Amino acid sequence: AMAAAQRDRVVPAAEWLQKWAAGKTAFHKERGHPLLQKNLDVLLNGRSGLRIFFPLCGKAVEMKWLADMGHHVVGAEISEQALKEFFAEQGLPYHEEPVPGISGAKVLQSMSGNISLYCCSIYDLSSAVVGKFDGVWDRGALVAVNPCDRQRYASLMISLMEKNSSYLLVTVLYDPNKHKGPPFYVPESEIRSLFG
Ligand code: SAH
Repeated sequence: AMAAAQRDRVVPAAEWLQKWAAGKTAFHKERGHPLLQKNLDVLLNGRSGLRIFFPLCGKAVEMKWLADMGHHVVGAEISEQALKEFFAEQGLPYHEEPVPGISGAKVLQSMSGNISLYCCSIYDLSSAVVGKFDGVWDRGALVAVNPCDRQRYASLMISLMEKNSSYLLVTVLYDPNKHKGPPFYVPESEIRSLFG
């Protein structure tokens, strides 16, 4: 019953913005995610100078890690506060530009140019705006997408991937009948049908 209830639940954008405003961001990992360290070779596959995408990026510190390794990092996040906290906490100066073609959106870009964070809904983006990527780090992204938007999200992500790109996805296994989150339960069978 809860699994079905989860399917119909929607977390509106305003609720995410409130979480950031109230500092209720327990999902943020100050020290980065151990699974990225562990699977870094899968993501990079011996390649250098990659374009790596962080959907629903929050202020993930892994964006700095990968940029420091010489990759170009692009993120998408609706909370401007999250993006500003990212640059402040990482000690990185940045500048802001409007995004041609997406009204109300802006991109916050590190002065060195290797980190570009789009402040807009991920659904406003396309490869025409952000290009295509060699790698994707999806942690707290697919699982945070409203279940009714999963198909749209997956199609968008596929459209943003280069031919040989690698997609690292973190999900959480738990009994959706016993727990309400983190935010949504995505069974492996659904991941297979979404990404093929
Ligand atoms: N990936 C990050 C943050 C996970 S929490 C991490 O690992 O820490 C999910 C984030 O998605 C929140 O910061 C929320 O503000 C953002 N978000 C929710 N819906 C979004 C949307 N449609 N477009 C872009 N960002 C969104």
